[in-house]
Amino acid sequence: MSHRVLVIPGDGIGAEIMPHVVRVLTALGPAFDFSYADMGGCAIDAHGTPLPPDTLAAAKAADAVLLGAVGGPQWDDLPMDRRPEKGLLGIRSGLDLFANLRPALLFAPLADASSLKAELVADLDLLIVRELTGGIYFGEPRGVTVDNGGRRGFNTYVYDEREIARIARVAFDLAAKRNGKVTSVDKANVLEVTQLWRDVVNEVHAEYPQVALDHLYVDNAAMQLVRAPKQFDVVVTGNMFGDILSDVAAMLTGSLGMLPSASLNASGQGMYEPVHGTAPDIAGRNVANPLATILSAAMMLRYSLNEAAAADRIEKAVQTVLERGFRTADIMPSGRAVGLEVLGTDAMADAVIAALS
Ligand code: NAD
Repeated sequence: MSHRVLVIPGDGIGAEIMPHVVRVLTALGPAFDFSYADMGGCAIDAHGTPLPPDTLAAAKAADAVLLGAVGGPQWDDLPMDRRPEKGLLGIRSGLDLFANLRPALLFAPLADASSLKAELVADLDLLIVRELTGGIYFGEPRGVTVDNGGRRGFNTYVYDEREIARIARVAFDLAAKRNGKVTSVDKANVLEVTQLWRDVVNEVHAEYPQVALDHLYVDNAAMQLVRAPKQFDVVVTGNMFGDILSDVAAMLTGSLGMLPSASLNASGQGMYEPVHGTAPDIAGRNVANPLATILSAAMMLRYSLNEAAAADRIEKAVQTVLERGFRTADIMPSGRAVGLEVLGTDAMADAVIAALS
């Protein structure tokens, strides 16, 4: 039986990187049945909508979805409901992908690429679990109105206890298989919705006596992430705080170009994508780092396709390539480059494929 993978290359460097990731997967061994669909800016241009119904239907029928990235300045002036990002939000909620897993793992050869001191981040291995289908990004009412001659913008930050409990269970389950610690991040001193978040996380914790739990306000969590990131194992938080904190975690590891992510629903089906966007500033120049998307494919093998050995092979190959001194421009240290070689997108993917064997 081959794995049915829906590939959504998207825009910018997403579309540029994706063919190389398919090459890596094809070189691995397990049989894949790849199909392709449009989403984001390219879908707006071709179909007039960022998420064509056929794309969502194909995603629902697939075992897993592999996504590049969507968006770009040419679509920034469209009305909000027709912007590329609407496609992303639509597929996440259409597949009910409520759990976003963002590991921040520092490959030892890249310790120097972090903006923090190497000793603070060496061997860093933390996992941010972000609630993805609720919170302020989806809350109603929302909008901009004109009141008394002036414009007024508003959004609604809302979570119900079912949403909080299911993401808390994902975090506790993962922590039980890792280092046994969950840090829940909220703003319970100011926002009632996050006081409920804290209460429900505490209630679910009673089911997991083997896992330690602490709570941090989001401002303190941001500070701790850059002060002493190795104190964390699994961090669980809502949609907006998770969006921000995972980008902070990205910088701990040196580059957005290294960070994969997984978004799962209750049945284990998932969408896998790099944390980075379409990088319009470097798109089309064969300089983008393909490793975040390659590592996202490894997460797909592990979490949705039950191919843990193949996932290990990809991750070891990435480690080997870095140990051999190969770098894309974004992870090249400024100044000291002895023993290092800068590769383009295609050559980096070639190096990973060579290291698989
Ligand atoms: P970005 O992640 O695209 O780029 C931020 C910076 O990191 C840029 O300087 C870029 O060159 C660099 N960078 C990112 N990925 C890289 C890689 N693989 N290799 C080397 N350098 C890399 O974020 P942005 O500039 O804020 O957004 C650009 C567009 O992407 C926007 O339209 C935004 O909406 C979209 N976006 C999409 C997603 C997604 O599809 N999931 C996520 C974030 C941003």
